[in-house]
Amino acid sequence: MTLTRRAVLVGAGAALGGLGATALIRGARPAALAPLDFAETLNDASELSPVKVAEHLRLARNGPALEQQLTAVLGKDRPMVVSAARHSMGGHSLVADGHVVTIEDGSVQVQDRTAEDIASGRLRYRVSGGTRWSDVIAALDPLGWSPAIMQSNNDFGVASTYSVNAHGWPVPFSGCGQSVRWVRLMDPRGEIRLLSRDQDGTLFAAAMGGYGLFGAIIEMELEAVPNQRLAPTFTAVTQSTIGPRFVESLAADSGISMAYGRLRIDQKHFFRDGMLITYAPSAEQSGLPPVTGSGFLSKAARPVFRAQVDNEVAKELRWIFEAGIAPRLAGETTRNMLINEPVVTLDDRDPSRTDILHEYFLPPDSLDGWLGSARDIILGSYQQLLNITLRYLAPDRDSLLAYAPEERIACVLLFSQEKTTRAEGDMRRMTEALIDAALDHGGSYYLPYRPHATRQQLLRAYPRVRDFVALKRAHDPALKFRNGFWSTYLEDLA
Ligand SMILES: Cc1cc2nc3c(=O)[nH]c(=O)nc-3n(C[C@H](O)[C@H](O)[C@H](O)COP(=O)(O)OP(=O)(O)OC[C@H]3O[C@@H](n4cnc5c(N)ncnc54)[C@H](O)[C@@H]3O)c2cc1C
Repeated sequence: MTLTRRAVLVGAGAALGGLGATALIRGARPAALAPLDFAETLNDASELSPVKVAEHLRLARNGPALEQQLTAVLGKDRPMVVSAARHSMGGHSLVADGHVVTIEDGSVQVQDRTAEDIASGRLRYRVSGGTRWSDVIAALDPLGWSPAIMQSNNDFGVASTYSVNAHGWPVPFSGCGQSVRWVRLMDPRGEIRLLSRDQDGTLFAAAMGGYGLFGAIIEMELEAVPNQRLAPTFTAVTQSTIGPRFVESLAADSGISMAYGRLRIDQKHFFRDGMLITYAPSAEQSGLPPVTGSGFLSKAARPVFRAQVDNEVAKELRWIFEAGIAPRLAGETTRNMLINEPVVTLDDRDPSRTDILHEYFLPPDSLDGWLGSARDIILGSYQQLLNITLRYLAPDRDSLLAYAPEERIACVLLFSQEKTTRAEGDMRRMTEALIDAALDHGGSYYLPYRPHATRQQLLRAYPRVRDFVALKRAHDPALKFRNGFWSTYLEDLA
């Protein structure tokens, strides 16, 4: 089954006047290259990473035709990066003076089920290097299936999801890599390699959450689980009970297939009260409705959500909506309906501000302590926290740069930041403090967001980062695949 690609989201590079923007991302600049004739400035979802690139190539093919196109790009004398929706926020999908490639083919091929698939209750499907989750959901939903692990929005690339090892709120899973059977990758020499747990396993583990530094993924095979009709349960929790309650609820009911937590963010109750929302299969599973886009509740939530900037009343109203009204309105839904949400639903539509995500991973028992420290740090900053969502993560036994080597609760924080130098400085200070607190509580932080962690913090959170760099250098001695993550943190790591 082949589906058409949607247009790629291109960030507004010029929007950053006051920030001294080009200095924000240190791009790798190969020596002795001719000046750029057709340079273009690209940005990512942060709107704070403008990077002048040599060219942005959109490749709308798959199979041998795509391989040929990628080989031609590799043959050029500049570095390259493969980029999908560019929702990473620190130049991870950009390379200064290099070739940015976006694969626009969105194929999804559902595989015939083997006896092993039937026994495990799974379905396998293959996607191209450019397929988005919206393509996957559209292909699987009519067949009664749903992607096993993906983010909370459907805009992202599937290959990029493996490349950042993203997670979402399906439980009881770890990062997306857990549901990936194999990837076919064009390596820096132009050779095609099949990577899996059994074949070239070291590279499979490094490329999972390896930010595209080991080559261009041109095809992958992943697992799907049955789509289901689900009913929600809302449980009131507090800052100190949400961590243990999350783990206990999932352990007590193996039927729960989606789960998240929310905490209050108005100053008076900051992080003190919360809700745990779990979804379990309804008794009636026949005649599932076809998947649609954003539901009424998501759209209705936007004005209140956006009014929260500098507005305590709106923050309290938001909580009344979230904890009082939503539980009464929320009815049965399907798994696919819950994950088929585009990012744009909550868009800020304000050119002077930008949404910045943070994410911290805490052992369930340390969550309370970290939330206490985070409250002081956030309230002591100038930043506007608009939301915190908590999720469960099973231990990641696969990826080299694992952010959840053991069971973790993920705290996803969404800030609205002014696009000014002062706000950027304040955000950096606050981020460093939040990361320190996470590390002191035995946790870690997520890599695809703003490059505000210090090198020391990276080394503490990801103890195998030097192995990662050594493997990268052995695999790609000419450093053909580069991006902002490499040049900011890894390039000169001794
Ligand atoms: C609003 C929003 C919500 C988010 N929600 C979540 C969430 O719920 N859970 C979560 O874990 N993360 C979340 N994220 C982070 C998000 O998952 C990552 O930023 C992810 O990279 C986004 O996918 P993308 O297609 O935009 O990737 P891009 O930013 O385009 O690329 C990310 C990385 O993947 C590499 N890459 C992409 N395609 C290929 C390929 N074919 N071959 C090799 N390398 C490739 C790129 O080089 C880059 O290093 C969110 C981000 C935003 C902005």
